[in-house]
Amino acid sequence: MHEVGLAQQTLEIALDAARREGAQTVRKLCLRIGEWSGVELEALRFALELVTEGTPAEGAELIMERVPPACRCAACDCLFNVAEYDYHCPKCGAESQQLCQGREMDLVSLEVA
Ligand SMILES: [Zn+2]
Repeated sequence: MHEVGLAQQTLEIALDAARREGAQTVRKLCLRIGEWSGVELEALRFALELVTEGTPAEGAELIMERVPPACRCAACDCLFNVAEYDYHCPKCGAESQQLCQGREMDLVSLEVA
């Protein structure tokens, strides 16, 4: 399961941060997960519960934010959501080549104590 690897990476980052702060526990993890990242929220939650067991991050609150796929238009710089694989800018009609969000899986913040 690919979520277990992601959970382990997330845990390592969190524990590193806690160590740097001289904290005893990780209380909260905030994650941003792109809708097209292929990450299942429930699977990730389960994986995190699994890998944090017995670590300072055990029992940490998990906040997961879904990020819709979006492009930034190279022509007019507007940010628009991509629906139905339509990459055309709704403002000027230019076609974008790249998603700027929606595939990520980031740990955006955490709380340690
Ligand atoms: Zn545009």
